[in-house]
Amino acid sequence: MSRDGARPLLLLVDDSPANLHVLAAALKADYRLKTATSGADALDLAGRDDHPELILLDVMMPGMSGIEVLRRLRAEPATGDIPVIFVSADTSEQSQLDGLELGADDYLTKPVVASVLRARVRNLLARRRIERQLRLAAHVFEHSGEAIMVTDRDNHIIEVNPAFTRMTGYTLDEVRGRNPRLLASGRTTVEEYAAMWRGLREQGFWQGEMWDRNKDGAIYPKLLAISVVRSPQGEIDFYIASFADIRQQKAAEERIRYIAHHDALTGLPNRLHLRIAIEQAMVACRRSGGEVAVIFIDLDRFKLINDSLGHSIGDGLLVEVAGRLKDSVRASDLVSRLGGDEFVVMLSARDAGRTAANVAKKILERLSQPYRVEGHLLHSTPSLGISLYPQDGDSVEALMKCADTAMYHAKEAGRRQFHFYAESMNRRTRAQLDLENSLHQALAHGELHLQYQPQADITGGRLVGAEALVRWQHPVRGLVPPAEFIPLAEESGLILIIDHWVLTEASRQIAAWRASGLPDVTVAVNLSPRQFIREGLVDTIDGIVAAAGIAPAALEFEITENTMMERAEQAAAVLKALSARGFGIAVDDFGTGYSSLSYLKRLPVSKLKIDRSFVTDIPTDANDVAIATAIIQMAASLGLKVVAEGVETEAQRAFLQAHGCDMMQGYLYSQPLDPDAFAEFVRARAGAAQK
Ligand code: C2E
Ligand code: MG
Ligand code: MG
Repeated sequence: MSRDGARPLLLLVDDSPANLHVLAAALKADYRLKTATSGADALDLAGRDDHPELILLDVMMPGMSGIEVLRRLRAEPATGDIPVIFVSADTSEQSQLDGLELGADDYLTKPVVASVLRARVRNLLARRRIERQLRLAAHVFEHSGEAIMVTDRDNHIIEVNPAFTRMTGYTLDEVRGRNPRLLASGRTTVEEYAAMWRGLREQGFWQGEMWDRNKDGAIYPKLLAISVVRSPQGEIDFYIASFADIRQQKAAEERIRYIAHHDALTGLPNRLHLRIAIEQAMVACRRSGGEVAVIFIDLDRFKLINDSLGHSIGDGLLVEVAGRLKDSVRASDLVSRLGGDEFVVMLSARDAGRTAANVAKKILERLSQPYRVEGHLLHSTPSLGISLYPQDGDSVEALMKCADTAMYHAKEAGRRQFHFYAESMNRRTRAQLDLENSLHQALAHGELHLQYQPQADITGGRLVGAEALVRWQHPVRGLVPPAEFIPLAEESGLILIIDHWVLTEASRQIAAWRASGLPDVTVAVNLSPRQFIREGLVDTIDGIVAAAGIAPAALEFEITENTMMERAEQAAAVLKALSARGFGIAVDDFGTGYSSLSYLKRLPVSKLKIDRSFVTDIPTDANDVAIATAIIQMAASLGLKVVAEGVETEAQRAFLQAHGCDMMQGYLYSQPLDPDAFAEFVRARAGAAQK
C-alpha cells in the first residue's frame, strides 16, 4: 500500500449518513475520504487548501441541493476544476441532462453498486490525469523556448510551435505537409544526415549539431534532438524534433577559445596556442621540407623595473614590447607570450636558421630602444635563444627547452644578444654578422676600391675594354676577395649600396681618365641580381651617368645568365631600356645557367662571357672543349661577340682563336689593375699601336 499522501482524496456528500457509509465502504481501500452531510459543509471542505480530487455529490439534499452546490463549486476558481459525479435516486433523463449540462462529469443512480462506483471513479480520475498531462504538454509545446517540430511517419511536418516560427521564420501554414529538408543550409553533409537516420533507426533517438538556413536565408547552427514516437504495436507514429539556436553559445565558445589561447595583458597568443602552432609547423615541414625556428625572448632585468616602479609600469612595458615584437616579424610568424617577461617567436622557412638570425637581430635592435611608459623613460634589452627543427629536436618540449637553454647562454655571455642552441649555428652567424658589420664600416671608411681588368681581342694585341672589379682592403684582414663578401652583401641587401658605389666610382674614373687625355675604353660594371630587379634602376643609372658627364657607350653592364632568365619579363624591360640608351650589355658567367638560346635571341644583348670554369681546362678536357666551342658557335649564329674569361695560357688562347672566339680577359693578357696602373697600361698600348 502506498503512503497516504499518494492516495487521491475524495469528498463524499450526502445528507444521509447511511448512504455515506455505503459509498465510503466501497472506496476507502483505495482513496482517502472526507465526508459532508450538507451542501454548505461540502463547499467548505472543497474550498480548503487540500482540495479533493473528486467529489461524489448527492443531488437531492435539504437546504442546498446538489445542483446548487455544483453551480457554486464551478463559480470558484479554486474548485471550478474538481470533477464531480452526481449520485441521485432520480433516474429521469431530464435530471441527468441537467446535471451534465451544469458541468457534472458523470452521473450515478442509487442504489449504488460498489464495483460500478469504483470503476467510474477510477476512470474519471484517469481521464483527468491525462487531460492535465495534455494541457501541460500543450503548454510546454506553446511556450517552450526550443523550437519543436512534429512530423508524421513519412516525415511530413504536421505541427510546429511558436518558437519554431521565431527561429526559422516559417509559420505552421507555410511548412505543413512539407519535408523538414526545407530548413537545410547545404552545410550539413550527406554522411551527417546518414548518421542521424541511422541513430533514429537503431536507438529511436539522435542528437547533434546542424547548420540550418532560416526563411531570410541566414545560416545558423542549431542543437537538434529528434525522438521517434511509436504506437503500442511498434509502428512509427511521429518524429519529434526539438532544437535550439546555438549561435550565441557558439560565439561564447569562440570567445572562451580565444581567452584560452591568448594572453590577457598583451592580447598575444599564449603558451597553449604556441604549442599547437609549433606542432602544426613541424607537421607542415615534414610534408614539404623546410625548418622551424623557435626564438625564446627574455627581457634583461625586467624584475628590477617591475619591483622598483610598480606592476602597472611593468605591464605597460610588456604591452609595448609585444607591439614591437609584432612589428619585427612577418605576418606569418607567430609572436606569443609565455607569461612574465618571456616571449616566443616561432617562424618557419626554408632556411629558418638564417631567417631567425635576421629576425633576432631586428628584435634586439627594436627592443633595445628606450621605452616611454606613463611618463617614465625606461631602458630594457632582451636576450634571445634560438632552437631549430629538425636539427635540435622533434618535439615541442625539446625545441622549447633548447631555445630556453640558448637564451641562458646569451644571458651568461653578457645579455643583449642572441644565441643558437647549436654551436655551429652560432659560429656561422657570428662570422656573418662580423663581416656584415665591418662591411658597413668599409663603406663608411672608404675601404672599397676598384681595379680594372683589361680585355683584349683574341690575338692579344688590341685593348678592347675593361671590367671594373671591386676590392675590399680590410684594415686587419687585408684584401678580402669579392667571392667572400659579395654573396653576404647580396643576402643582407648591402649589395645595393656597393653596386651604387661601384657604378658611381667607375663613372667618375672614366670621366677623370678622359679629362687627363687617356683614350676612351669601355668599362664593364657588374650588376648584382638584387640590383638588377630593383625598381627605378634605370633612373638611378641615368642619374649617375649624367652626374659624371659620360656617354652611355663608355659603360657596359654585366648581368649573369641566371639573373636574366629568372625574372624574364622584368629583365627584358630593363635590358631594352638600357640598350636603347646606348649601354652595352654582356651576359656574365655564360654556360653555368639555363643557357636558353631562344630566349637570348629576343634580348638586346651584345656580348657573351664564357665562364672561367669552361676555359680553365681547355684544351685538355674534352667536355670543356665541347661546351666552349658550342657557346662560340651559338653566339656566332646569334650575331653576338664572345669573351673568354680567365684565359691564363697561350694554349687556351690559341685554341679559342682557332674556334672563332672574339675576345679574352685573363691573366695571360693582364691581371686586374689599380686605376693608375691601368692608365699606364692603356697608354703603353696606345703608344705601341701608333708605332
Ligand atoms: P666575374 O664578374 O666573373 O669577374 C671575373 C673574375 O675572374 C674576377 O674575380 C677576376 O679577378 C677573375 N679573373 C680574371 N682573369 C682571371 C684569370 O686569368 N684567372 C683567374 N683565376 N681569375 C681571373 P674577382 O674580382 O674575385 O670577382 C669575382 C666575382 O665577384 C666576379 O665575377 C663578380 O661576379 C663579382 N664582383 C666583382 N666585382 C664586383 C662588383 O663591383 N659588383 C658586383 N655586383 N659583383 C662583383
Ligand atoms: Mg663580371
Ligand atoms: Mg664572370
